[in-house]
Amino acid sequence: MAIRVLPPEVANQIAAGEVVERPASVIKELIENALDAGARHIAIEIEEGGRRLIRVSDDGAGIPADEAELAFHRYATSKLSSVEDLSHITTLGFRGEALASIASVSRLMLVTRAAGEPMGTRLYLEGGVLTGRDGIGAPQGTLITVENLFYNVPARLKFLKKESTERGHIGALVSRYAMAYPSVRFALSHGRQTILSTTGSGDLHEVLSEVYGLETASQMVAVEAVADDPSRPDLHQVQVSGYVGLPALNRANRTHITLFVNGRWIQDASLTYAVVQAYHTMLMVGRFPVAVLLLDVPPHEVDVNVHPTKAEVRFRQPDAVFGAVQRVVRRTLVEQAPPPAIHAEAVWGSPEWAARRERLTQVTRDRMQQLDIDLDTESPGQRAYQQPPGDEDAPSTPQSQPRSLPMLRVVGQVGAIYVVAEGPGGLYLIDQHAAHERVLYEQFKAEGAGEAMASQELLEPVVVELPPEQAALAEESLDALSAVGFGIELFGRSAVRVRAVPALVSGGDPVGALLAALGEIECGEMPTGSTAEEKLIARVCKQAAIKAGQVLSYSEMEALVRQLERCQSPQTCPHGRPTMLHLSAQVLAKEFGRLGAV
Ligand code: ADP
Ligand code: MG
Repeated sequence: MAIRVLPPEVANQIAAGEVVERPASVIKELIENALDAGARHIAIEIEEGGRRLIRVSDDGAGIPADEAELAFHRYATSKLSSVEDLSHITTLGFRGEALASIASVSRLMLVTRAAGEPMGTRLYLEGGVLTGRDGIGAPQGTLITVENLFYNVPARLKFLKKESTERGHIGALVSRYAMAYPSVRFALSHGRQTILSTTGSGDLHEVLSEVYGLETASQMVAVEAVADDPSRPDLHQVQVSGYVGLPALNRANRTHITLFVNGRWIQDASLTYAVVQAYHTMLMVGRFPVAVLLLDVPPHEVDVNVHPTKAEVRFRQPDAVFGAVQRVVRRTLVEQAPPPAIHAEAVWGSPEWAARRERLTQVTRDRMQQLDIDLDTESPGQRAYQQPPGDEDAPSTPQSQPRSLPMLRVVGQVGAIYVVAEGPGGLYLIDQHAAHERVLYEQFKAEGAGEAMASQELLEPVVVELPPEQAALAEESLDALSAVGFGIELFGRSAVRVRAVPALVSGGDPVGALLAALGEIECGEMPTGSTAEEKLIARVCKQAAIKAGQVLSYSEMEALVRQLERCQSPQTCPHGRPTMLHLSAQVLAKEFGRLGAV
C-alpha cells in the first residue's frame, strides 16, 4: 500500500483512543469545557452507564455560531494561540482534541448560544461527520448529547464494563469536580435517579457531606494555610487548602486521598505519599487517611501537558510542593486531632468541635485559676495530688512548647496498666506504656533534630555476649547505632563492649536497649534512611518505656501526663496505637441518662 495521509475521521478516531476510554472520560472533557466557559451550573444526565446517552448542559459562555463547526476540528481551540501559552496554562483544556475525539466515536448533538447572539445553533455529527445544522431557540450556554458511544468502534465497546461499573466511574469523576469547584452547582442523574447534586454555595464542607455522607464529613477538618518554608526562600509559594480526615477516619487504601492542582484533579504518587507521611505514627500500619486537598501553584511552575488525559502533571520544584503538603497537613492534624473517643459517634470530631474545644479550654483556664486559689489556701500535706515536677525532668519538652492536650488531673492507676485522668472534656484513660513510648520518642526526635542523639557514657563499659549473627549485625550497623546514641565497639569475635547509650535510656537497662535496637535492625532492612532510624528510635523507646504492670506513684503518673500533654502527637504511640481513650462529659451524661434531666 502506498503512503498517504489518513482522512481526518480516521485520524480523529485514532486520537480518540487516548482521550476517550470510557463514558466517564467523555463526561470529564465536557465538564472541563463547561468550567472553562465559566459555567455556574452543570447538569449531567446519563443512561445505561453513559453507553446509550450522555447529556451535559451548562450555562457558560456558549460557542459563537460561526465557530461551532470549527470546535469539532482536531487541534481547534480558543484557549491557546502560541507555544509560549503552553508554559502558563490557566484553563483545564488546551489541546483542542476533545470534541473532535468524542464526535468521531459517537452520534453527537450540540446546541449552543453565545452571549449577545439572538439565536442558538444546533449541529448533528455522526462518527465525526457533520450531518445537519440549523438554528434553534436556546438559553445561553451549551448542551451536548453523546449517544451510542463507540457505536463505530466495536473493539472499544467490548471493553466497557458493567453498567454499574461505568456508573461508578462517572459518579467518582463528577464528585471530584464538585469538590474542586464548590461554587459551581453540579447535578448528576442516571435515568430518573439523582446520583449527586450540590448547591454551588461555595462551601467545600457541604460538598464533602454530599459526596461522602455527613458522618465521614464530620470527621474532616479544614486545612488552610500558605505553606511557605522560611528556611527555603528559593522555593516558590504553594497554597494548600481543603479538608483532611482525623486519624480515626481511615481506609484500607490510598484512593481516598484526592488532590487537585489549580482546579485540576491529578494523580501523583509522591504527593499522595506526602499526605500519608503527615499522618506518620497517627495511623496504624496499613491504614490510610481520607483527604481532599486543593493546591494553588503559579501556572508556570507546573507542566500539565504530560498526557492527553491531563491527570498527570510535572512540577518545576517538586520538593516545594511535597514539603508544603506535608507541613500543612501535619500542622492541621497536630492542632486539631482529638484523642479517640470511646464512643465513635460522640461529640469529638463533629464540625462544631473547634468551637467546643474553645469553650472547654476556657473552662480549663477558669478551673486552673480556681485551682491556684485552692492550693494557696490549702494547708501543706493535704493536697489531693502532688505538684507537677519541675521541667528539669523533661529537658526537651519545655514549658514553652504548646500544649497539645488540655491540662489533665491524674485520678489514679487501674490494673497497673492505665492511668485514669480527668480533663475539662471528661475522663481520659491513658495507656501508660504507649504514652511513655510517645513521650520518649518525641524527646529523642527533638534531640536528634539538632545533630546526633545525645549519648551518655557509661561509668563502667559493659561487655555483651551476642550470638555470632547478631555480633556481625552489630558490626555492620555501628554507624546506625551511633547515630541514635550507642557507643559500642567489637570485643573479640562475638561480643561488643558498650561504652555509651542514648541518654534517654541511660537510667534504665542499657543492654536491653541495645538488644532491642539490634532486634529492630535484624527484622528490617539495613537502617540507612531516616525512616529506618526512626524505627530504631521507636524500638528503643518501646524497650525503655514504662511497662504495663508497673505500679506508678502519683508523681510518676503526674510527670508522665504533664509530658504527654506537651507532645506533638499525644494521641498515639510511635507505632500508631492509641495512647488514650476519651470518655467525654457528654457521653458520660448520655450513658447515665443525665441528658435532659432536671
Ligand atoms: P479544548 O478544550 O482543549 O480547547 P475542545 O475540543 O474540548 O478543546 O473544545 C474546543 C473548543 O470549543 C474550545 O476551545 C471552546 O472554545 C469551545 N467549547 C467547547 N465546549 C464548550 C462549552 N461547553 N462552552 C463554550 N465553549 C466550548
Ligand atoms: Mg476541552
